[in-house]
Amino acid sequence: MTYCVIKYELCEECDGKGIAYNPLHGDTWEEWKERGFDGPTPREHICPKCRGAGVWYANVELLTALEDLGLPVSLFKGRENEQED
Ligand SMILES: [Zn+2]
Repeated sequence: MTYCVIKYELCEECDGKGIAYNPLHGDTWEEWKERGFDGPTPREHICPKCRGAGVWYANVELLTALEDLGLPVSLFKGRENEQED
């Protein structure tokens, strides 16, 4: 049996806002034309990394989560191995 917890973290790309700087954005007509647009492109757009959610959710194994938090998980893992023998 494996227990999991939900890992929740802010998207680094948009800092949790869900909106990010549009790399296609240009400041001049020449830049827009170079990028294939007829006019101004939006300065910001929905963050492509988190798709506008601003956060990431992931299932993480409980022991992995505890280890990430700095608990001495190796002690538990050692006991698990003993029981399997
Ligand atoms: Zn994002």
